[in-house]
Amino acid sequence: MSGVRWLKCRECGEKYEIAPVHVCELCFGPLEVGYDYDKIGKQLTREVIESRPQTMWRYRELLPIDKAPTVGTQVGFTPLIEAKRLAKALGVRKVWVKNDGLNYPTLSFKDRVVSVALSKAKEFGFDTVSCASTGNLANSVAANAASVGLKSIVFIPHDLEQGKVLGALIYGARVVGIKGSYDDVNRLCSEIANKYNWAFVNINVRPYYAEGSKTLGYEVVEQLGWKTPDHFVVPMASGSLLTKIHKSLKEMTQLGLIDQPKSKIHGAQPAGCSPISTAEKGGMDFFKPVKPNTLCKSLAIGNPADGYYAIQSIRETGGVADDVTDKEMIEGMRLLAETEGIFAETAGGVTVSVTKKLVERGVIKKNDSVVIYNTGNGLKTQEAVLPSMPKPDIITPHIDEVDAILAKK
Ligand SMILES: *Cc1c(COP(=O)(O)O)cnc(C)c1O
Ligand SMILES: [Zn+2]
Repeated sequence: MSGVRWLKCRECGEKYEIAPVHVCELCFGPLEVGYDYDKIGKQLTREVIESRPQTMWRYRELLPIDKAPTVGTQVGFTPLIEAKRLAKALGVRKVWVKNDGLNYPTLSFKDRVVSVALSKAKEFGFDTVSCASTGNLANSVAANAASVGLKSIVFIPHDLEQGKVLGALIYGARVVGIKGSYDDVNRLCSEIANKYNWAFVNINVRPYYAEGSKTLGYEVVEQLGWKTPDHFVVPMASGSLLTKIHKSLKEMTQLGLIDQPKSKIHGAQPAGCSPISTAEKGGMDFFKPVKPNTLCKSLAIGNPADGYYAIQSIRETGGVADDVTDKEMIEGMRLLAETEGIFAETAGGVTVSVTKKLVERGVIKKNDSVVIYNTGNGLKTQEAVLPSMPKPDIITPHIDEVDAILAKK
């Protein structure tokens, strides 16, 4: 059933056996899972995929586990919404919103990557799982670990939104808040990973974890009837998700599931933490690490692990990157909510507002089609929008008070 062949260094091409390792011993490049596409292509047709249950595991040959998944078996196949009212507001012919704010069980796209990472961690025989997280990852690791009786210990910046802190604690995870930014958390976790024998989903099992993001590409294309849009707009933190959506398109083409796509893949960041988009806009191949200062905490990675590769994917597809202020981000959250009834988290607001900017820049044209990724749920980041919302009318239960507030409008 598994189509996996090896781990391969993205820089020098050195190959490694499947194991909980993530960097090349020769050049320190990141390792990536490689597949036997000839073998996979013989069995994985559109018809076979469509006959399977509606979860992300319908693409299991393209995911790096040996046996049937044991964690997060219900994850994925979230709605792809045809967003007519948003399209009108943006002045674009066709817009779809892929709403991963409804993912199971923790309402973000991280449920995809974590179900692969923890299924793999169990295959490797780990009993404790861990992560360095900007919030959603900690929630998903904690919940998915609880669901299969794995121990979890998650590391987060100490000043995250309450919904994200509670969203890890409730599952009985050990939660450690670090006085510092995500980049400090991540640096510390690399040290911890060398010392303790845990599966760190985004460190020693990162090559497997990251592959789960490809399902956000497969699903959208299948939901569009095996067609690709003119544009994808993707939020970027480490940049991994964007590179994996790109990989998913290349794989589907290689397997003959779709024709060579012409889609441009664009990256979205908050202006207060935009190392990747700043580099892309400046025509640079390498980004300069930054110190994050934004309300969009889920995308606040100042030294993004896949930033370099994200820039390459963007350029290869003819895409661009851009960033928006926190004020524009909040406007984006409200626009999506008021036009489509979707309450996205801050990252979704960034992605919607960057899409608007790309229309204004003429990158996305009036007659084009666009898929916008909403990767998280607004109920987890209420602090970001609460201060800018109107207050509800408070009245006593009398009809004349209703009349009075309606007359006021
Ligand atoms: C983690 C995360 C992302 C981006 O992930 P990367 O793969 O690190 O770029 C986007 N949106 C949300 C809500 C996230 O939690
Ligand atoms: Zn190497």
